[in-house]
Amino acid sequence: MSGIQCEKKFYLGKNHKKLNIEKDKASSATEAIFAQGNLVGELALKLFPDGVDATPESYYDFQKSVLQTDEFIENGETIIYEAAFQYNGVLAAMDILVKSVDGWRAYEVKNSTSLSDTYRMDAALQYHVITNSGIELKDISIVYINNEYVRQGELDINKLFTIESVLEDVKQRIPGMPDQIRRLKTVLSDQVLPEKEIGPHCNSPYDCEFIGNCWKDVPEYSVFDIKNLRSNKKWELFNMGAVTLDQVPEDYSLGTNQLMQISSELNQTTIIDKENIQRFIREFKYPLYHLDFETFAVAVPLFDGTRPYRQTVFQYSLHIQESPGSDPKHLEYLAEVDGTDPRIKFVDRLIEDCGTTGDILVYNIGFERGRLKETIEAFPNYATDMQKIIDRLKDLMIPFQQRWYYTPEMRGSYSIKKVLPALVKGKDVSYKKLVIGDGGTASSTFSQMLNGTFDGDPRATRQHLLAYCKLDTYAMVQLLSKLEEV
Ligand code: SF4
Repeated sequence: MSGIQCEKKFYLGKNHKKLNIEKDKASSATEAIFAQGNLVGELALKLFPDGVDATPESYYDFQKSVLQTDEFIENGETIIYEAAFQYNGVLAAMDILVKSVDGWRAYEVKNSTSLSDTYRMDAALQYHVITNSGIELKDISIVYINNEYVRQGELDINKLFTIESVLEDVKQRIPGMPDQIRRLKTVLSDQVLPEKEIGPHCNSPYDCEFIGNCWKDVPEYSVFDIKNLRSNKKWELFNMGAVTLDQVPEDYSLGTNQLMQISSELNQTTIIDKENIQRFIREFKYPLYHLDFETFAVAVPLFDGTRPYRQTVFQYSLHIQESPGSDPKHLEYLAEVDGTDPRIKFVDRLIEDCGTTGDILVYNIGFERGRLKETIEAFPNYATDMQKIIDRLKDLMIPFQQRWYYTPEMRGSYSIKKVLPALVKGKDVSYKKLVIGDGGTASSTFSQMLNGTFDGDPRATRQHLLAYCKLDTYAMVQLLSKLEEV
């Protein structure tokens, strides 16, 4: 699959150490996705319980798995996990192989909520290797997550997973398989790093782990950072030789905000639309609540009423200002990891902490409003109080999204992580000094704590989570102060 994405990626995957080329470090969010994949894989085995396991002791020991699988089949085993086969120098391991009365059926587990072309291609390779190893397959299926499943009580794995046959699709891909394999074997045997320009394939279907190497000549701020520019236009510019913003041809068709982003960068100009800013902040009703949520999303729903991958609230930070420019009071909530549904105390505390009057400022209203509406669905008895909170929400992102306030340092972005350092300097407002410094890491850290895969110091990590969320709302106080200043 790597070779289908990019031959250079495939070659580097095998030879990067020899060539002294480092793989990019996986983010903690990516690691959490892998950990989640493992959990889903283990759970899916329960669909076909009591099988024998051919998993190798180490990733590099699949040869033993092939022999073990062979032995299991000869011994009459009917359910084999991680069944491995080798044909013509190509190895394939199948998550679950099951023998029923009419023959063998193969199942590959994915922690995704839909079938992709990549999965079908992957299954085609497995089918090719397994059937050529002498096992006739009656069917081959992908087992994936059913995102419509709502947990109530005990986890129902038959409802959590969808099993879908891809046999017909796979059969259509089989005739092209030997050529693909021959081509990729040649890539390896040639022992020459394939020449391949960077392109959309670097992130599709997966982010390549050699971006740090291949993209090193693309500057930190480039045409790829032009906000809301479609990917094909970014590549068109790049292929025309326009890599930095000053190289974008003057007559190239771009939107108003995109042109503004470029001219602001080239002339180092700041845009401040005082009239709109004034109108925006004048309408705020005090006390003013600066609110931010953190959420997690896991494949296997942990609590009643939740679905796979649904954003679930577990933490908030609240800075409250009684009057314009006043020192804020800080309140916060972070769920305990004790097996109870974190949303219940979250909602209770939020209703109490938000009082009954004054506007509630959030940054990107769609997110917070969406989560609040979901809690109403889950806990209708809180509907009246939660709706009152929703009705008081206002979005501090608007002045930056609308470009009423824009500086070249924002680099086209209105994310709080870009806007804050552009407008407010100082160590106490820096995400860089934090151990947990972005929402993805906060989310994956908490979900690891919940599902038992977290191996850090829980007490220290709670403090890091609190510090991160607190900075988000403190940042909002600081941004509002900046708006008032101008
Ligand atoms: S970064 Fe792009 S060009 Fe380089 S190996 Fe990866 S996919 Fe290929």
